[in-house]
Amino acid sequence: MLFQKEFSVSDIQTSAPAAATVSKNKSAFKPVHAIRGMNDILPPESALWEWLEEKVRTVMQQWSYRNVRTPVLEHTGLFVRGLGEVTDIVEKEMYSFQDRADKQGDADHLSLRPEGTAGVVRAVSEHSYLYDGGKRLYYIAPMFRRERPQRGRYRQFHQVGAEALGFAGPEVDAEMILLAHELWQQIGLKDVSLQINSLGQPSERQRHREALVAYFEAHQDQLDEDAKRRLHSNPLRILDTKNPAMQELAAQAPKLMDYLGEESLKHFEQVQAILRAQGVTWQINPRLVRGLDYYNLTVFEFVSEALGSQGTICGGGRYDYLIEQIGGKAAPAVGWAFGVERVLELIKEQDLVPAAPVPDVYAIVPEATALPQAMALLTALRRQGIKAQLHTSADSAQGMGSFKSQFKRADASGATWALVFGGDELDRGEVAVKALRHTQAQTSFALANVDALLAHLQAPEAQ
Ligand code: AMP
Repeated sequence: MLFQKEFSVSDIQTSAPAAATVSKNKSAFKPVHAIRGMNDILPPESALWEWLEEKVRTVMQQWSYRNVRTPVLEHTGLFVRGLGEVTDIVEKEMYSFQDRADKQGDADHLSLRPEGTAGVVRAVSEHSYLYDGGKRLYYIAPMFRRERPQRGRYRQFHQVGAEALGFAGPEVDAEMILLAHELWQQIGLKDVSLQINSLGQPSERQRHREALVAYFEAHQDQLDEDAKRRLHSNPLRILDTKNPAMQELAAQAPKLMDYLGEESLKHFEQVQAILRAQGVTWQINPRLVRGLDYYNLTVFEFVSEALGSQGTICGGGRYDYLIEQIGGKAAPAVGWAFGVERVLELIKEQDLVPAAPVPDVYAIVPEATALPQAMALLTALRRQGIKAQLHTSADSAQGMGSFKSQFKRADASGATWALVFGGDELDRGEVAVKALRHTQAQTSFALANVDALLAHLQAPEAQ
């Protein structure tokens, strides 16, 4: 029913072709592939993701940031209002669709979230979550942008984001930058440089914008198509041009810094004073304007040279007007997001990949009749924190497989110990323990005495 409405059923291969047309070794069905730019994350790669997520959770807890989870789908209007109509994301990168009409006949226009801040801000204002003061939040979540896939740029990618809402002071801008910086330290990343800028306040930007439009108008002949289109809608973005022919023109344009008032300059100075006191180094990049419209005052990016053209691993800044803009009660805020794929790429580039997880014990089970006892013991051991892997019948072509083939599997699993549930041992109510990575003599333990076995497995000389 669902398919029939939207597709011609003949477009979709739902049943196997006639047996005669199917060759012996091939599946009868055409393979279905993942969507371009959307990746599967399988072991051992997924272990690296878990490792990074764990680091993030630990640091976030140390810095008193709490986890927030918002829906993957939002009303399209949230992103149009939040990110700005004339942004690449809203103009051409969102996965949007008209929902089915509900009973009243209204059909919502929905989008997969292209970034996390708008959703968090919506949730915070919808639940009046700032009623008793500022909140520090973080998320680890998939985002969707229909960009041209390339290294470091995907259509489904993942962001770790941190948002501090309800705080106006420069110390929170600094805290945010330090938080990201601390994450790089904990992960061990090297050669990540910090760039910062101040976008000032809307009135200051307005004056700068007027000067900018006048400047670019005076140089109309040097503008490319993109710049001409943005001249009156979003001239600030022209400064961000990737077109080499326009770099010089952009470099000579009026600088926003020259239009900032005393308050804005002081805010920026205070952020830098805190960073300075912690030995963090940075460069002021007056051309750092960020792709989204909602920022004011401090903006920043962490960049790595090692990733080629997609070198920005983390970006963020202050967004004091966004909450009000999407219909909430006005409150200041600051946040950042880093791209998980890009940070992982850097981790691999810098040889920081941690060892893949391996089981502590591998259960060798020569006869299927021993499975119930073997599995009961493994459950007891797992409850005590032992990582255990069972040899299963599917691991070999015939039955449980020979001793030799089971030991081969045990070795390949990386386990420290083999637990051997042989017939003789079980008849005595015991299990044999054989060291796989060191030369400790084989011993046996009573199945009923889990504590003694556990002590043996955890003994320091075995590590
Ligand atoms: P943004 O929300 O555009 O400021 O992006 C924040 C971070 O998310 C960037 O610095 C990247 O690390 C990452 N990122 C953004 N877009 C993509 C993408 N299409 N694929 C992978 N990572 C991305």
